[in-house]
Amino acid sequence: MKELDTQPQTYLVTGGAGFIGSHLCELLLSKGHRVLALDNLSTGLMSNIEPLRGNPLFEFCRDNVMSEVVLDRLASQSDIIIHFAASVGVERIISNPVETIHNNVAGTEAVLQAALRYGCRVLVASTSEVYGKGARIPFSEDDDVLLGPSCRNRWSYAASKMVDEFLALAYCHEYDLPAIVVRFFNTVGPRQSGQYGMVVPRFVRQAVRGAPISVYGDGTQQRCFCDVSDVIRAVELLSVHPEATNRVFNIGGQEEISIGALAERVVAVTGSSSPIQYIPYDQAYAPGFEDMARRVPDTTRVEQLIGWKPTLMLQDILERVRDHIAAEEQAASAS
Ligand code: UDP
Repeated sequence: MKELDTQPQTYLVTGGAGFIGSHLCELLLSKGHRVLALDNLSTGLMSNIEPLRGNPLFEFCRDNVMSEVVLDRLASQSDIIIHFAASVGVERIISNPVETIHNNVAGTEAVLQAALRYGCRVLVASTSEVYGKGARIPFSEDDDVLLGPSCRNRWSYAASKMVDEFLALAYCHEYDLPAIVVRFFNTVGPRQSGQYGMVVPRFVRQAVRGAPISVYGDGTQQRCFCDVSDVIRAVELLSVHPEATNRVFNIGGQEEISIGALAERVVAVTGSSSPIQYIPYDQAYAPGFEDMARRVPDTTRVEQLIGWKPTLMLQDILERVRDHIAAEEQAASAS
């Protein structure tokens, strides 16, 4: 295994042009690390990494994680692999279930094999979706999970990510691969796209445009949002921590809010006159769609290991997203 110390490392970030990936690349470069970003731009955007492209420590490769030759070349140069490339977003998952399952499972296995060949540490991104409809709040890493039936597409994402977790931990146990699993809970912030269903950028863009805010269901479902800047800080610290391997960590915020109340907060933060519109789930997604009523992370484990806590509250997060989206809308209308 390659020796890790406080010296600059070479990181391979799969999904490096995505929302969380691009923020992480930026952070790692600011710390003097070399960053190789791999992204097929299925949901990632070149504009997310445009400011990084002049940096001599940054290399971008447009390809799929399942492209063996490319992945092999990048892994051979890396000390640490951060595996973010995945099919994400509830809407996308519902409309492309085969692609979701295949990308998530085969992509992760390809990355684990490449990490093993070159003695890299690997951090695999998972999701709070794996807790499914679990009712014991807050969710902690060793809780049982309760997924819906396989006839409901939505659960294929959770199941595929669960397999990713099993794979990562199995590579740890059987082959001594230093692997870490993180479960992200509703990460939000500048550059997140609302195109695939994510609620905060959708609400903020609707509000900035004066369009109706689309609350799905009755709006009583609750979530905890965490700013991407806090999330990537945890990822960076965990990626090099000697005691993080072979473990699963929740990463998320603690401030719980209902989606109905979130719509009101967004209206207030943007000074918008948008009305709030309630849309039944079967119209918003598909007949029989099942949502999670509450999703709150227990973050004791990550806090105990690396002293991590989120620093930004929902108000700060919404202001950051508002400023980013307002600037984008202004630029679009000027061009
Ligand atoms: N949601 C909503 N309106 C939208 C998009 C999402 O009311 O335009 C709801 C969604 O049904 C869920 C919550 O907001 O209850 C969070 O959705 P998101 O897709 O951001 O994340 P999830 O927690 O479902 O993974």
